[in-house]
Amino acid sequence: MSTEQITAKMTYATIPDPRPEAIVIHCSDPRFQAAFEQFLEHELHLEKGQYVPIVVGGGGGVLAHPEQLPKEFKFLKDRLEHYRRVFPSVRRIVLINHEGCRYYDSIKTKVLSFVGSFLKPAPDHAREDLSLVTRVFQHFLSHLGYTVELYYARFANAERTKVVFEKVGN
Ligand SMILES: [Zn+2]
Repeated sequence: MSTEQITAKMTYATIPDPRPEAIVIHCSDPRFQAAFEQFLEHELHLEKGQYVPIVVGGGGGVLAHPEQLPKEFKFLKDRLEHYRRVFPSVRRIVLINHEGCRYYDSIKTKVLSFVGSFLKPAPDHAREDLSLVTRVFQHFLSHLGYTVELYYARFANAERTKVVFEKVGN
């Protein structure tokens, strides 16, 4: 076997000079990855390379609670500010929360214990929190100059094999 054969590797295409127009923050839950990508392409007309994905447990939900989850908020804020410099073409930010988010359940329990509440998180708190995100952006992230779009992925059948995406807020 020649050296060339040993080192031969498959190659994969890159997008050498992307001009992303959006940052998209969504959860890393493997059940939803294909649906998120298809939604972005089919309904928001964002193809790969046209957006900067930030895929993290709980999605942008932590942005609703900067005081209660300061480290997680800073993690996302730092990245948003970094991408603002690196990709000046970005104009908007898309946040997608989803039904049945296990990470979200855990952070919400943390938030509720912080405020001394014995309440259990509401079943659709991931959706309710999206409206808080708009206010947080106005207070803490307005310097980015992004418009904010919020979506909620809700199960569309009892078997939980399909989701629909609802626009939340304005
Ligand atoms: Zn999730």
